[in-house]
Amino acid sequence: MGRGKVELISTAMAITSIEKYESLIGVEATERILRKAAPLMGARVACVNSTYYGGGVSEILDPLTLLFDSVGISVEWRVIMGSPDFFSITKKMHNALQGDRINLSLRKKRIYERTTFENAVRNQLDHDYVIVHDPQPLALIEHYSRKGPWIWHCHPDMSQPNPEIWSYLRPFVDQYQAAIFSIPAYRQELDIPQLFIQPAIDPFSIKNRKLDRKVIADRLRRYGIPTDLPLVAQVSRFDRWKDPEGVIESFRLARKQVDCTLVLLGDVATDDPEGEEVYRSLLGSREERIIILSRQDSALVNALQQSATVILQKSIKEGFGITVSEALWKGTPVIGGNVGGIPYQIKDGINGFLVSTIEEAADRIVRLLHDSELRRQMGHGGRRRVKEQFLMSRLLEDYLDLLGSFETVYRMKQEPPAGSEGG
Ligand code: UDP
Repeated sequence: MGRGKVELISTAMAITSIEKYESLIGVEATERILRKAAPLMGARVACVNSTYYGGGVSEILDPLTLLFDSVGISVEWRVIMGSPDFFSITKKMHNALQGDRINLSLRKKRIYERTTFENAVRNQLDHDYVIVHDPQPLALIEHYSRKGPWIWHCHPDMSQPNPEIWSYLRPFVDQYQAAIFSIPAYRQELDIPQLFIQPAIDPFSIKNRKLDRKVIADRLRRYGIPTDLPLVAQVSRFDRWKDPEGVIESFRLARKQVDCTLVLLGDVATDDPEGEEVYRSLLGSREERIIILSRQDSALVNALQQSATVILQKSIKEGFGITVSEALWKGTPVIGGNVGGIPYQIKDGINGFLVSTIEEAADRIVRLLHDSELRRQMGHGGRRRVKEQFLMSRLLEDYLDLLGSFETVYRMKQEPPAGSEGG
């Protein structure tokens, strides 16, 4: 299967492939996925987004593009480029899609559209399928004569988009053949079909595979994270929608009743210019038991999610929040904001808690820190939920269903008319 074009030597076994998933999802599911991939074999797919690292989209594209390749479908991953001005505007667009106000001046539209055009000049996109992620590269579609379907995959929390930004972006979206949102609550008024597909995690990545105790201890020590008290942690881009201040306040309230250490770990994505500012605004809250780190280190994310007694994802808006599944996969209970995609992952009181206020978050931290049996049960439930719903093989299958549903020129070439001998 796949891998035809790349000469791999010793790394071949280390790369994400559908065969690796068989031990988790079973032979039947693996064969079903391969059957769905077969009619698309040899197709050329392009994925386009705006950063190679930082944030959930690159986290998905990294393993997903490799998985596609392992089932015989070649995927190219393109990242658009832009000036700080461009990314400052697209971050404002992202915030407005999540409900913020925006001053969408002519100057901003010009920068957005000109940078889009420049990227179109640099990128040939003549693939059988093109999948464009999020608002940054959305408008590329204006500049191509399309060979096959173009799909827009939108990841923010679209429960209440600002009407001004939506009326500007919608004419671009309507040129696509389909739009994907994470959950049905994000449905919009559009002329094209809409699908609801939830993101997923790669259980074999450095971030998600089981680490042994020594590796975890070394990693925590390297960053000066003490392990003498239970760890409560949130791992997220430094973004105010993730409510880092609320996390600190919840922790301070909880600490009146139980001893623990808080770690806020974040990274800064290249397409998110606000991260640095949010990180700096938090530094005044640092103290011996409140550790705030800005690092790009997947093994540290893993070590924290695995060793924390409780993980928080106290978002105010959250498209999906794969950090929740990442922690649940490690058997760590998660306290999440009751917004967006989080309730799809956390069943309140079963594999974690859903909260809407700082006080609720503090109360659930105390409950979990006091009750090891509750943590054990929730940990089991969480891992089971991710295994059933949020592994990358499921996302691959959803995409195969979607790509396979188009009557494309590519597919008609592959599939002989019914009744003929084929070959
Ligand atoms: N992440 C990371 N290092 C950090 C903070 C976050 O690698 O310091 C990763 C995190 O593990 C997850 C992704 O960034 O894989 C965040 O995805 P999510 O869907 O939770 O949020 P987004 O950033 O897309 O809003």
